[in-house]
Amino acid sequence: MVPGRFHPQPFRAVTPADYIDRHPNELLDRLRHLVGVSTVNPPGENYDRQTAWLTRELTDLGLRSRRYPLPKAIVQRALPPELQRYPRFNVLGKLPVRGAKRTLHFNAHYDVVPVSGAWKHGSPFSGAIERGWIYGRGTADMKGSIASLLMALRAVRATGARPSMNLEVSFTADEETDSALGTGWLVEHAPIRPDYAIVMEGGEGPTVCCGHNGTLWLEVRVHGRPAHGSLPHKGINALEKMAALIRAFAPYKQMLARRTWRTPEGRLHRPTVNLGGVFHCGEGAKINTVPAHASFTIDRRVIPIERHATAERELRAFIAAAAAKIPDCRVTVHKISENYSCFSEPTHPFFRAMAECVTGVRREETVFNVSTGFNDMHFFSHHLKIPTLGYGPGGVDYHGVDERAEVKELLASAKIYAQLMTTFRG
Ligand SMILES: [Zn+2]
Repeated sequence: MVPGRFHPQPFRAVTPADYIDRHPNELLDRLRHLVGVSTVNPPGENYDRQTAWLTRELTDLGLRSRRYPLPKAIVQRALPPELQRYPRFNVLGKLPVRGAKRTLHFNAHYDVVPVSGAWKHGSPFSGAIERGWIYGRGTADMKGSIASLLMALRAVRATGARPSMNLEVSFTADEETDSALGTGWLVEHAPIRPDYAIVMEGGEGPTVCCGHNGTLWLEVRVHGRPAHGSLPHKGINALEKMAALIRAFAPYKQMLARRTWRTPEGRLHRPTVNLGGVFHCGEGAKINTVPAHASFTIDRRVIPIERHATAERELRAFIAAAAAKIPDCRVTVHKISENYSCFSEPTHPFFRAMAECVTGVRREETVFNVSTGFNDMHFFSHHLKIPTLGYGPGGVDYHGVDERAEVKELLASAKIYAQLMTTFRG
């Protein structure tokens, strides 16, 4: 070094992560706005207002954005009459990048579950911040993820960083009911062509979700014969038959418990069955009448190594055989709904790239997990057959009182999203 001469410091450009650290309020203000517009589902309130705002946000960030109202005919087919006056919308934004061959899709749902109970800050839609946490319905599930993604896009744009892939962003309806008019509609009808997808929930902290269980929801109706309550031997008591049938499930449960699968994080994962989340006695039940109807639901969780069709066939056959062994036990079985399980092997380069981003930002080892609950990942993973992961800021008390997200985690997810979209080339 020559004394008296000017030696410039090596120039270090502001990175998206620096930008995020310096502008936390840009994220928090948006999250407070998102939470303040209550998109409670059911019934599906304020979707119009929320999606108009989201579309504008994406446009301001340089994306080609469009809002898709669901056609009336589809809404009428999918929703019960009392919900049809609440319009459904999905938002799609695209950022084509010159020379990029692959496309990365970010997805979040913007609806939230209904509220109840006494909240610490009064309104469940306050967005109040206290000791590093932001409170309100949707902060954890999953408007926090939307705010983190908007922040990531803003930081990338503001710092002149270049996305390494084409980007697609979707904000979808109705995940808290069945997603049929949300992500279910999107993967079937919207002009998307993703090679990889991130559903921004399911994994949080050092944990990245690479799959989830599926569901098979059935209702079993037991048909008896009514009689006067003073002459019970003249009827067939549907409740007693149902009780016997429920008890007969023991060997089925034992069989499921033996069906183990070791997940990437080394946990033993098993299919499960939950009986009678809902059970009914049917109409016309009276204390002095032998019950002629009884019904119960079955929530069968299907693990990724099982085939859905086989699981259903096996369960239906089991019910039929069990009922046949109970005298006068006549049953019918109805399917309520199903969601497919999904799993992507985390050895894929997409997962390696995500692990690098998560570990780079958080300074801790990344873990891949398979979730027992489900989210919208299966629409991309099972339906579109593309590598799909679940990751977002998360939070605590999902669906409960005082739902909240940690500001530190919201910022960390924004950095992880920004890093992935500027480094992973596919
Ligand atoms: Zn959610």
